[in-house]
Amino acid sequence: MSMVEFHDVQKYYGDFHALKDINLTVEAGETVVLIGPSGSGKSTLIRTINGLEPIQEGRLIVDGFDLADKKTDANKIRKNVGMVFQHFNLYANKTVIENIMLAPRIVLKRDEKENKELALSLLKKVGLESKANNYPRQLSGGQQQRIAIARSLAMSPKLILFDEPTSALDPEMIDDVLNVMKDIARDSSMGMIVVTHEMGFAREVGDRVIFMADGEILEDDTKEQFFDGE
Ligand code: ADP
Ligand code: ADP
Repeated sequence: MSMVEFHDVQKYYGDFHALKDINLTVEAGETVVLIGPSGSGKSTLIRTINGLEPIQEGRLIVDGFDLADKKTDANKIRKNVGMVFQHFNLYANKTVIENIMLAPRIVLKRDEKENKELALSLLKKVGLESKANNYPRQLSGGQQQRIAIARSLAMSPKLILFDEPTSALDPEMIDDVLNVMKDIARDSSMGMIVVTHEMGFAREVGDRVIFMADGEILEDDTKEQFFDGE
């Protein structure tokens, strides 16, 4: 079974046709980079995958669940499909470690001691062990984004969606975030779909590059096809 399958998907915002005849399959563990001009529908496309945006026509199957079926509970999908946003979206009134421990405790009912150990190991992985008891506002943008990624990893998802994760960061912080993302890309048990302008990331760790314009997928290439065509 593929992780994500779009079959002739149409998405409208009112009368505006935002996604046109989308056909796309993403396999488990794949790293897919989504590029295209601003307003081409990249963010809309990845937001449909975890049910943040409904689709109006076609079939969209994620992790075996049919998102076009009104009876599908998007929370079941979000358990296995994480999302990292441009603006971090951390819980401002919770400490860093609480941000990471919250969803596993509530959704997965993970044992408290095990949950804390995993959270600390993820903080170490993203290089921010010393910030466990800080609040998000006490961290730089790049640090907050690494916490947001750790929070997503804490759910042990099959797929993580990244919506321009480095676009809001100061340039000197981008590499720290990209390095954490590259580690995830190299982990074959976890897939990722990344909307980004960072072509170095695509070149280094991407499996596929998809180019969108005006709500359509115009290219769906292997990395080799994409970069050899330059
Ligand atoms: P991208 O991520 O490629 O910049 P988006 O998916 O954010 O593109 O947006 C695609 C198009 O859909 C744009 O024209 C945008 O203005 C429009 N759009 C996005 N969200 C909404 C919304 N909630 N309501 C109406 N139009 C929207
Ligand atoms: P981002 O920088 O995160 O892509 P945007 O400015 O594209 O943010 O969109 C922010 C929010 O506004 C999103 O929830 C998006 O769906 C909504 N939005 C974007 N374009 C439109 C639009 N033309 N009409 C209504 N809502 C929109």
